[in-house]
Amino acid sequence: MASLNLDDYIRKIPDFPKKGILFYDITSILAAPKAFSYCVEAMVDIYKGKDIDAVAAIEARGFVFAAPFAVRMGIPLLLIRKKGKLPGVTLSKKYDLEYAQAEIEIHQEDVPAGKRVLLLDDLIATGGTLNAARGLIQAGGAEVPEIFGVVGLPFLNYGKILAPTPVCTLIDYHSE
Ligand code: AMP
Repeated sequence: MASLNLDDYIRKIPDFPKKGILFYDITSILAAPKAFSYCVEAMVDIYKGKDIDAVAAIEARGFVFAAPFAVRMGIPLLLIRKKGKLPGVTLSKKYDLEYAQAEIEIHQEDVPAGKRVLLLDDLIATGGTLNAARGLIQAGGAEVPEIFGVVGLPFLNYGKILAPTPVCTLIDYHSE
């Protein structure tokens, strides 16, 4: 896989969506085919030898990375959505974001009980979203052996809330 400096493809927007937040925008990765395929191939390289039965991704930017990854891996893709978007019977969980409050849901019957589900999002800040998502998968009777984010902000201490699940990222930023 050709190497590439992923930082060059991440747009940084100060004070979005509110003052004091530096927003790491991944739409600039999606707009650059070589950066997008670099991410997907890097994810496949990390997980292809591992015992992963399915991938669950978080609305909305997590979906974009998870879809080509699921196809390349030949595994099911489970969608975790904001409350009120899924038509079937759901499991749901409330949680705190870095800058808001939210509730996420998953179709109960999509969760493969007894299987190993990789959790994936575009960016991990406080880890609150992925912590809630892990709770959803576990409530459905599946395991979460690993968590993946394209971008990590470890200075926000997501490692603590997500422990003991191992977390992997493609790039980390160490301050805002
Ligand atoms: P958290 O639950 O705090 O880990 O927040 C993660 C979710 O919020 C991810 O889905 C990100 O897309 C979004 N997010 C939080 N903080 C930022 C940030 N500084 N830049 C870009 N996205 C962010």
